[in-house]
Amino acid sequence: MCLPEPGPRCAATGPGVPRRRAGSLAPVPAQPTLSDVIAALDALWPRDRAEQWDAVGTVCGEVTDPEARVGRVLFAVDPVRQVADEAVAKGAELLVTHHPLYLRGTTTVATDTFKGRVVHTLIRGGVALHVAHTNADTADPGVSDALAAALGLRVLRPLVPDPTDPAGRRGLGRICETERPLALGDLLEQAAASLPVTAQGIRAAGDPDTPVRTVAVCGGSGDSLFDAVRAAGVDAYLTADLRHHPASEAREHAPLALLDAAHFATEWPWCEQAAAQLDAIAEREGWDLRTEVSRTVTDPWTAHAPSLPQESPLAGPPGALRTAPTDTEPTPGAPN
Ligand SMILES: [Zn+2]
Repeated sequence: MCLPEPGPRCAATGPGVPRRRAGSLAPVPAQPTLSDVIAALDALWPRDRAEQWDAVGTVCGEVTDPEARVGRVLFAVDPVRQVADEAVAKGAELLVTHHPLYLRGTTTVATDTFKGRVVHTLIRGGVALHVAHTNADTADPGVSDALAAALGLRVLRPLVPDPTDPAGRRGLGRICETERPLALGDLLEQAAASLPVTAQGIRAAGDPDTPVRTVAVCGGSGDSLFDAVRAAGVDAYLTADLRHHPASEAREHAPLALLDAAHFATEWPWCEQAAAQLDAIAEREGWDLRTEVSRTVTDPWTAHAPSLPQESPLAGPPGALRTAPTDTEPTPGAPN
């Protein structure tokens, strides 16, 4: 499944400009080196702002080779095989993903592991891989700013501010307000219409007519932030991967509306934002650099069946649904 294909992005040159693979011909002066681009990415999302448990930065690439040039950069959420193949097919010299390829240590990059296959595909294809994960989550602008923008929400402040930021702009999640008074049902439709199409769609908890003026958002798994959401006193919370118990307890605790989107869908808008940030740098530096955002949907879920009307086993005594048929036609709506 792929998202609709937009036109190619271009920072300093048009789509028809001839391109080349790194190292194949004399260097084109305007193309930045890989280390130049990596330095720009590190300035946007400093590695030391990542969580301790995280694994960000450059995973593979000839960062010490002054001849290694970058003409095209592909942004994506997940460094999976399909995306690695896409980066090679598109002639990218650099793939930037939000999720790490390796979060824990490994003892092999052999191709009989799917991650090893990705590493080999990238290296053979001349593609470097760089990861900006929790350092992009808390950045200004960060993953949740992109999510808020996609939803048409106005950002007020971080949901969990980074105490090291005196300006109070960095941090996890964002507290936002709607541009106009909305009902929960409107916000649900707005989210379904503006986030990437996934099998899950958007789930919601709450009366669809509930007025919503303030919304907390968090790209990615956000059910560890319910204390901050409650403290913010918002009308609704939109995030991903909401589990039963945290969601149930949040609903019991306060009249908080919940919206749960696919993890991928809440983070994909960051790719567009990140590409635009690199475009701006390329323009400022005079680099011949093109950025592109992968339209490949890497949400692992591929199908969804809404529950159908049925005689629920929850509605009657055990065994009620297994009553043997009788000779008489059942009356519609009556127990049988
Ligand atoms: Zn994520």
